[in-house]
Amino acid sequence: MACPDANGLLTIQNFINGDFVPSKQHIDSYDPSTGKVYAKIPESSKEEVDAAAQAAKRAFPLWSLTEAKERCRIMIKIADILESRLAEFAAAESKDQGKTIATATIVDIPRAVHNMRFFATTILHDVNTSSTVDKLGIVNYTTREACGVAGLISPWNLPLYLLTFKIAPAIAWGNTVVAKPSEMTSVTSWMFAKVCKEAGLPDGVLNFTYGTGPVTGDAIVCHPDIHLISFTGSTLTAERIQSASSPFCKKLSLELGGKNPAVIFSDCDFKKAVATTVRSSFANQGEICLCTSRIFVENTIYQKFVEEFVKQAKEFKTGPPGDPSSRMGALISKEHLAKVRGFVHWAQENGGTIQCGLEELNLPDENKEGYFMAATVITDVADTSKVMQEEIFGP
Ligand code: NAD
Repeated sequence: MACPDANGLLTIQNFINGDFVPSKQHIDSYDPSTGKVYAKIPESSKEEVDAAAQAAKRAFPLWSLTEAKERCRIMIKIADILESRLAEFAAAESKDQGKTIATATIVDIPRAVHNMRFFATTILHDVNTSSTVDKLGIVNYTTREACGVAGLISPWNLPLYLLTFKIAPAIAWGNTVVAKPSEMTSVTSWMFAKVCKEAGLPDGVLNFTYGTGPVTGDAIVCHPDIHLISFTGSTLTAERIQSASSPFCKKLSLELGGKNPAVIFSDCDFKKAVATTVRSSFANQGEICLCTSRIFVENTIYQKFVEEFVKQAKEFKTGPPGDPSSRMGALISKEHLAKVRGFVHWAQENGGTIQCGLEELNLPDENKEGYFMAATVITDVADTSKVMQEEIFGP
């Protein structure tokens, strides 16, 4: 479905009013497993965002009045087509993001399918809540109404999974959408647009404008005809979005970062506790907002826990995303790899012990420039130190 040109480069287009519209400005998108540019992504201007917003605005009256069972039918069709192309989407997500094909096959794409089905069927069974005010004959009730044009902005760690987690509820309840995935992971949403078109989603209901946050993202946030913003990403960006959108009094939904601790007590099922914590720490290269990022272990089993955890972390292989024995692929970008490594160096220089993670990786030649990093365990750092307080978002 996604065809590169003679130079091997894939150029993606904005999706506006049901058409794939070429853009004038592009930015590079890298394959994290090789470090090479493999796609050109539009850097959409204010005018391009406006064209998408106007298309969504025009589509809103009809779509919001379309019967729920018809919206459901189209969304189920989208889910079915996506599911029938699971392997193709999983390979594309892995190439774009760096994660293993196995993760994309087991987690990302099935979840995107589920998101569409879940919200498509929820609208068929939506039940209102109400309350009465005693003896006054007053009834208060809640209904879910379409809001208008929704601006949806998502991050790079679970690209299609998180974007469809926004698109599905928005269009299910009759909103229309201008969406922007991360500039680092735009390809699967572009493929998804083709699926939506094939499934018969009316023109203008879903529009994609690609580009960076400060340019395209900001144009979405500040567009007067986009009535709500649903954002998932970092806390810093959320602060900017909150202040940029405040003059418009937009509805905002912000899902942000984390620094999730695991707490291990001495009466735990030891085997299960170690295996689960290894998995929750290193799944998706540690690039999930709910990955375990620090572990507190009761004194009496601390030494035993560290030994077994480090042993299993060393076995949690980092390697080419397509290699079935790889448990972790590449990190998203050169800059992110440098940021994550920076935390390890900081710990080294500030009294921390690096239990594992500094070993050289044995990678094939074509992956030597990729952004790979081994599962890393740091001990002997203060609870107040930056490695224990700040989101690292890596393995
Ligand atoms: P990010 O905040 O850098 O970017 C997220 C999105 O916002 C991207 O599409 C980006 O282009 C856009 N953006 C950036 N600046 C913008 C601006 N000024 N105006 C409008 N849009 C702008 O986050 P990221 O690095 O892509 O993702 C990692 C972060 O996301 C981590 O902090 C992680 O914890 C968080 N995250 C949270 C959840 C959750 O459900 N809570 C899930 C996944 C990721």
